[in-house]
Amino acid sequence: MGKVYIFGHRNPDTDSITSSLVMADFERKMGNEDVISCRLGKINKETEYVLNYLGIEAPKLIESVKDGENVILVDHNNPKESIENLDKVNILKVVDHHKIALETAYPLYYRAEAVGCTETILYKLYKENKLEIDKKIATLMLSAIISDTLLLKSPTTTECDKIAVKELSEIANIDPDVYGLELLKAGTDLTSFSIDEILHLDAKKIDFKQVKSIVNQVNTADISEVMKLKLDLETRMNEIINEENLDLYMLLITDIVNSNSQVIALGKSAKLVEKAYGVKLENNTALLKGVVSRKKQVVPIMTENA
Ligand code: MG
Ligand code: MG
Ligand code: MG
Repeated sequence: MGKVYIFGHRNPDTDSITSSLVMADFERKMGNEDVISCRLGKINKETEYVLNYLGIEAPKLIESVKDGENVILVDHNNPKESIENLDKVNILKVVDHHKIALETAYPLYYRAEAVGCTETILYKLYKENKLEIDKKIATLMLSAIISDTLLLKSPTTTECDKIAVKELSEIANIDPDVYGLELLKAGTDLTSFSIDEILHLDAKKIDFKQVKSIVNQVNTADISEVMKLKLDLETRMNEIINEENLDLYMLLITDIVNSNSQVIALGKSAKLVEKAYGVKLENNTALLKGVVSRKKQVVPIMTENA
């Protein structure tokens, strides 16, 4: 069959990186040797913490794959978040926990579940196929679930995620609360990133009906620290709006300790944020109390109000 490239979304997060590593391990254990774990972008600080903890290499950085090659998508299915020529490659499988945005002209293996993390689905796949989860794989899975669910506090968290965390932390011999906080804190370190890099770290292109948007999320333990960069962030956000012809750029600065997000909203559709959340933007910003999940607390609410 030839090589199979496995990758998560652009601007990869911990789930996208670890799922590509774990999916490759899963495929090998199922007898598919010719798989390559890949990534579509730079490793963030949180993921770097996981890779350093385990002393393992990041997946191979790629920009594209040739037309006709075989791929497996993890942690995404939206062509906007994938390689440019997704419509010209052969998608063998998708394992994902996002809403379905993909259409193909051929049948494929598609596993989607409304759980907090792709790794929770992979955990189930190991179980269903009676495969052993070793310490390294358990640590990768556990790290991603902690990351995506903000230590099981996000409203995206399900019973399946909780069960997975319990068992995986036993296999990995890790206290999820202690390790999890260190992991999330590592992700809040923005010191080595330029303003432009911060604005692309976890940026997703999303259309709220006709409103062409980017929603970016930055985790922090102290909102005021990130807000010191507000003017510089806004200058670059306005440039990105012009370059990409956007109606809205929404930057969520998410307080992982208190579970709130400060939003900075720019673009001609910024008022949509006021309508959706019943807040008043002052100097382009407002506090969105209890909002931590882009998937559950931003996409549906913004789409409904657009
Ligand atoms: Mg992700
Ligand atoms: Mg995910
Ligand atoms: Mg995320």
